[in-house]
Amino acid sequence: MRSMLGHMDREVFALNTEIQADLRTMYGTEPEAFTALLAGSGSLGMEAGFANLVEPGDVALVCANGAFGRRMAEMAARYGAHVRLVTAPLGVAIDPQDVADRMEDVDLVAVVHGETSTGVLNPVPEIADIVRHSGALFSVDSVTTAGMEPFHMAEWGIDYTYTGSQKCLSAPPGLAPVAVSERAFARYSARRTPPPMWYADFEGLRNYWIEHTYHHTVPVNLHYAFHAALHAAMDEGMQQRAERVQVMDSAIMAALEPVGFSHYVQNANHRLPTVLALRVPTSMDEAAVREQLRDREISVAGGLGATAGVIWRLGLMGETARPAPYRRFFTALEEIMGVNGVVQRFDEATEGSSLW
Ligand SMILES: *Cc1c(COP(=O)(O)O)cnc(C)c1O
Repeated sequence: MRSMLGHMDREVFALNTEIQADLRTMYGTEPEAFTALLAGSGSLGMEAGFANLVEPGDVALVCANGAFGRRMAEMAARYGAHVRLVTAPLGVAIDPQDVADRMEDVDLVAVVHGETSTGVLNPVPEIADIVRHSGALFSVDSVTTAGMEPFHMAEWGIDYTYTGSQKCLSAPPGLAPVAVSERAFARYSARRTPPPMWYADFEGLRNYWIEHTYHHTVPVNLHYAFHAALHAAMDEGMQQRAERVQVMDSAIMAALEPVGFSHYVQNANHRLPTVLALRVPTSMDEAAVREQLRDREISVAGGLGATAGVIWRLGLMGETARPAPYRRFFTALEEIMGVNGVVQRFDEATEGSSLW
C-alpha cells in the first residue's frame, strides 16, 4: 500500500521520464523523439494525430481496409482534411502500389499496421519507402503490434504512432502512449492556427511532459500500472514476445483446424500475428457457441459488419498469448461443440515450451 501522489509530484515526473525513455525503445524512435501518455484510450491517440498534424484543406491519404482504417478516415475528415482513400478487399492487405499511385500533393499518409477487425497486417515498411521522399508525414496505428512485435519508427520513417495501454502491454485501459518524430513536431510548430483540440495539443503535452508545468491532471495510478507493464514487456524483449505469439498461433491452429476452423486471411504474408481471424465451421451456430462460452466467463470476439457470423477473432496480445487462457477456452469449447482432441492437440503443441 502506498499513498497517492499528485500529478505534479517530483516522483511522478521521474516515473514519467522513465516511461518516456522506455517508449522510445519500444517504438524504436530517434533519440530526441517526443513520447508521452495521453489520458484516454487508443482512439484518443488516433484523434490526437489528426488534430495536431492536419490543417483544414490538407490532403490526407488514408489506407482503409477495415473498421479502424475507416475510423481514421472519419477523424481526418472531421479535422478538415480532404481524404483520399486507398482500400483493399476485406481480409486483404493494402497494396503499396495503390499508395504510390495516389501520392500527388499528399500532406499526410495514415495506415493501420494491424487491422484488428479482419486480422490483416498492412505492409508498413513498404508503404514507408513510398512516403519517405514525398514530403508527406506518415502516421501509423500500432495498436496491435507495438509492444508485442519489433517496431522501428525511425528506421521505417514513421512520424507519428500510438497504441492503447490495454492491448499489447496488457495494462489497464485508459492510456494512449504516443510518439512524435522531430519532423512531425516541426510540422506541428509551423501550423497557421492552433489545433482545434486543446486537450491533446502537442504543445500542452510538451509543457507537462518536458517542462513539468501544469496542463491537465494525469491519471497517476494508471501511470504506475503502465510503467510496470511496459517494464515487464521490455525485460521479456520484443523478439521473445513475437516468438511467444508464433508458438501460440501454431498451437491454436493445430488444435482447431481438425474441427473445421481455418484462416480467414488467405495470404500468409498478410496475417496479423496478434489477432488470429478464423473462419468458423459452417455447421456451427457461432453466436450460440459464443454465448455459451460467455456463460463460462470466456469472451470470444466475433466478426464485425461483413464478417459477422463468419469469423472469430482470437487475441494474442500481451498476456493473452499464454497457454492457460486458451486451454480453458478449448476445454469449454470441446464440451459445447461435443468434440474431443482439441485440448490434447493444444497440449502436445505447447508441451515443453517456456510459455506456461
Ligand atoms: C483497439 C484499437 C483501436 C482503438 O483503441 P481503443 O482503446 O478502443 O480506443 C485503434 N486501432 C486499432 C487497430 C485497435 O485495435
